[in-house]
Amino acid sequence: MPGPAVDLALELVRLDTINPPGREAAAAELLARRLERAGLEVERHEHAPGRTSLVARLAGDGRRPPLCLTGHLDTVPLGGAPWTVPPFGELRDGRLHGRGASDMKGGVAAIVVAAERVAAEAPGPALELVLCAGEETGCEGARHLVAAGALGRAGAVLVAEPTGGVPHLGHKGVLWVNATAEGVAAHGSAPHLGRNAIVPLASAVAAIADVALDATEHPLLGGPTLSIGTISGGTVVNAVPDRARAGIDVRTVPGMSTAAVLEVLAAAAGPEITLTPWVDLAPVVTDAADPFAALCRTVAEEVVGVRPTPRGLSYFTDAAALTPAYGGPPTVIWGPGEAAQAHQTDEWADAARIEAAADAFAAVARRWGA
Ligand SMILES: [Zn+2]
Repeated sequence: MPGPAVDLALELVRLDTINPPGREAAAAELLARRLERAGLEVERHEHAPGRTSLVARLAGDGRRPPLCLTGHLDTVPLGGAPWTVPPFGELRDGRLHGRGASDMKGGVAAIVVAAERVAAEAPGPALELVLCAGEETGCEGARHLVAAGALGRAGAVLVAEPTGGVPHLGHKGVLWVNATAEGVAAHGSAPHLGRNAIVPLASAVAAIADVALDATEHPLLGGPTLSIGTISGGTVVNAVPDRARAGIDVRTVPGMSTAAVLEVLAAAAGPEITLTPWVDLAPVVTDAADPFAALCRTVAEEVVGVRPTPRGLSYFTDAAALTPAYGGPPTVIWGPGEAAQAHQTDEWADAARIEAAADAFAAVARRWGA
């Protein structure tokens, strides 16, 4: 099922953008040059050396504010299990195999090919492509673009994260919190001379794991979740550790406040634990009756052949950073990758679906501008 979007997706999968460390520069440059050739104005922004995000603009006929098409260039690591397909790209049996095929180089390729088609028909709709580094580690690239004032305007946002080709109306927010205990170091043979940081942290983690977060079930997003993702403490077995830390991952739904969540966590953790939030992004939800949501639904039916019902996602996307920065325009998450393939060993994406997404995104842009 080769086609321009699949070809580009394969080129992207061949470039290692595993995060950490990221190294998105080569993929960003490949896309920047293509978009420049197509007539878009491209800005490159680094949030760290080699960590390039792009903002690419197509000036439109001015009838509608720009449509933002967004995706991320980084992927998660390959994981510990051995792969049975080449992790850096192979096209076989109608599938693109490799890390990032679904999450989300297939989606990024569809965005770029759609933008090239729309640009070839200019003047038409205005586009703002936002292709970000560092999404997988907390939207670092997108947050950098926001902080740097690199974004322009957008009347609607389409995020091509993997949704199996079905438009979704929103996703949960995220709150990542470090829980830290400080102690006093001592020789392991004389623990009475120190104060162990691991013991209070272990109690706190056990208590936090039992926390019930207070929130009303959201019709699209359901309820909040809480997971303890990391724990570390001490350096050697024969020393009393003076520091221990756990990472808490809370996925939020509309109506929750960060302050209230931190209060509940602090009450469970106890006075010896310091809680430090380091990523705090609100949920993103668009009304099913919104005209842009309706437009995406119509195009999905006509071009992709799916019949979407209103639904949301539990994972978050760069829209958590971008949509508020644009002033809250309608946002739809809709990409050709398989949601169930994200972060999996032997990740793949359906090649025909990637091409269909390029057709669909171009159709959305044309009708958005009409
Ligand atoms: Zn993703």
